[in-house]
Formats: sequence, C-alpha cells, structure tokens
Amino acid sequence: MDKHKGNLFILSAPSGAGKSTLYKALLSQDKNVRISISHTTREARKGEEHGREYYFTDVEDFLDMIADDAFFEHAQVFDNYYGTSKTSVFSMLEQGLDVILEIDWQGARQVRQLYPEALGIFILPPSLNALEERLRGRGTDSDDVIQRRMSKAVNEMSHYDEYDFAIVNDDFDTALSQLQSIFTAMRSKTTVMREKHGNLINDLLSL
Ligand code: 5GP
Repeated sequence: MDKHKGNLFILSAPSGAGKSTLYKALLSQDKNVRISISHTTREARKGEEHGREYYFTDVEDFLDMIADDAFFEHAQVFDNYYGTSKTSVFSMLEQGLDVILEIDWQGARQVRQLYPEALGIFILPPSLNALEERLRGRGTDSDDVIQRRMSKAVNEMSHYDEYDFAIVNDDFDTALSQLQSIFTAMRSKTTVMREKHGNLINDLLSL
C-alpha cells in the first residue's frame, strides 16, 4: 500500500448532545482514528487530566502560541480560549491516521478555509427538552445558568448547515453507526483512494 495522509474530520455539537460519548465509542472501535488534544485556558474540571482531555494553559502562554503561529485554528468559546496546535494534527495525518478535531463552529470555519478536504460532522440532540435534561443532569446549576447554556447551545446549532453531515443523537447505536458510515464513506472518496492506492490505480490504467 502506498504511503498516504490521513483524513481530517471536524466534529461539532452543542454541549449536552452526547458528542464525546459518540466519538469515544468510535475511537475504541476504529484503530486508525485519533482525537486531537486541544489547548484551553479554562480550568480543568474534576476528573480531567492535562494532556488527556486538554492541554490546560494560562492566557499568557496561549497568547504566546498565537503570536508564534502555533495554532491551526483557535477561538474564544464562552469565556475561554481554545485552540488546536499545528503539531498535534499534522504529525498524525502524516502517519496516515485519521484525526478528529472536536471544536466549535468558529474553529470549524477556520479549518475549512485552510484545509478544504476536511469533512465536517455536526451532532444534534433529539429535542430541546432532551438537551436541557442533559445539561441539568450535570450538576446543581441554577435555572439562570441552564438558560445561558441553552442559548449558547442554540447558537452553536444554528451553524449546523455549514457542515457536510449532521447526525441526530437519539438512539445511541444508530448515531454511532451513522458516524462510522461517514468515516467509511470518506475513506472511499476517489481523491482519497488516489492517494492511498496510487500504485494500484496506475497499474489498472497502464494497459
Ligand atoms: P468544553 O469546555 O465543554 O470542553 O468545550 C467547550 C466548547 O469548546 C465545545 O464546543 C468544544 O467543541 C469547543 N472546543 C474544544 N476544543 C476546541 C478547540 O481546540 N478549538 C475550538 N475552536 N473549539 C474547541
């Protein structure tokens, strides 16, 4: 098989849509997929580890990285900075691994500009009620906080049609199989096949 670059996927969703459970299931079943670990200036939540969920960084270091052009994309989401470093993505793609960027719509726009081959997937919740339940389920936040999260979620969802695919995460197994199908379809694109099976295609056309 020829050496080829991996495929780049963008995965976005409002918080509470079940995006991380979905991609974790995909990662556990598909050994060719990796998730890019972002930098963020937000505080680590309970159970999160530096270098696993995120690289937790202070604002000064984050701004230095912007100045050094170290980010593939970055954005301010809520009150914090988030960004994907170039090194975290390109070395994996060069190894032929497929990479998921779990980023918001602002970052997705930047990636599409810089890397038009990237495939965007948006995860939607099955209803606003389900979304609210998921957001409430996380803790003992006040109604006010929940309402703010809901309006941020609606804002994120309003960008769903900037993506190539959308999945409604109602039944988990169905949503997972849709996600897997999208990955499978991407790998069969003629542009990807030409990279991956260049020798075969040259042979087939050489009569
Ligand atoms: P959380 O703080 O809940 O982990 O993530 C909040 C939001 O930031 C989510 O919408 C998530 O997709 C987005 N996000 C996480 N990492 C990045 C990143 O590297 N770049 C951008 N643009 N958004 C990110």
